[in-house]
Amino acid sequence: MPAAWKTGLIEVAPKVFAYVQATGETGISNSGLIVGDDTATAVDALMVPSMTRRFVAAIRTATRKPVGRLINTHHHLDHTGGNRFFRAATIVSHERCREVLAAGFPPLPLLRRFMPRFAKEFPQLRVVLPSLTFEDRLTIHDGQREIQLWHPGAPAHTVGDAAVFLPTERVLFAGDLAFHYVTPLAFQGDVGNWIKAVTRLLRFDADVIVPGHGPIGTKADLKKLRNYLALVRREARQRFDAGMPAEEAARDIKLGVYASWREAERILPNVLRCYQEFRNELDRPLDVPAMLDGMERLRGDRADHACL
Ligand SMILES: [Zn+2]
Repeated sequence: MPAAWKTGLIEVAPKVFAYVQATGETGISNSGLIVGDDTATAVDALMVPSMTRRFVAAIRTATRKPVGRLINTHHHLDHTGGNRFFRAATIVSHERCREVLAAGFPPLPLLRRFMPRFAKEFPQLRVVLPSLTFEDRLTIHDGQREIQLWHPGAPAHTVGDAAVFLPTERVLFAGDLAFHYVTPLAFQGDVGNWIKAVTRLLRFDADVIVPGHGPIGTKADLKKLRNYLALVRREARQRFDAGMPAEEAARDIKLGVYASWREAERILPNVLRCYQEFRNELDRPLDVPAMLDGMERLRGDRADHACL
């Protein structure tokens, strides 16, 4: 578990960059930049204006070419909130990503409660929808470079996930299908399918994996993420079968090394979604305020333990 990691715009292959934000906690995601012959492609737009402005300023240190294309890896606010800063770009996403984004961002009071440190900037958010969508695969031929978009075929982290793969450079922008050293959050996901999606991502011929949250890594880091999800699902299943309530299960599961990953209390929504999966109720949204209450209780418990 690294205490800190390299942040900012980092060149991971010739003219291919990851933009990494510190901590990787809720709302603090990574993005990417692929500089082509005539135009540049951004991968995700970050969340609040102060973040996206810093990202755009970093892009300007790397290239003068216009950002003609923006890929949204999924609909979550921390990846699409900054879409409006890319006015000249064609925004590309999975069709379900666009569909869910079209319903708008969550209401302000909920956002403020979920991510209080960004509360001031939330009123400035505007939804800007993708104008080009795909279903399973899309290959963009950008000069000599191929930019491949891949959807896992079923809901995983969200209903409309997309990974961006550069086969020549062997770089994979995994969006939130990958979290490195930050606890993954499945509150709108399907943990069973997410594990399968990661197994398939691990077959990509990639040397560099840029996760949605946390430091740039490799397949070794992505395997740790898969192991976390598998551990939580396996342990949740045992407790579900034994009739244990979800919050008790979340408290009872021993996370081992994963207890040191950031935002470990996300075990609760992850277990809640596993329970919904076992009941065949994944189409029902989680009660987010109740989930946040439960996460606060878990955080409190953990802080008490740390004091003892
Ligand atoms: Zn995210």
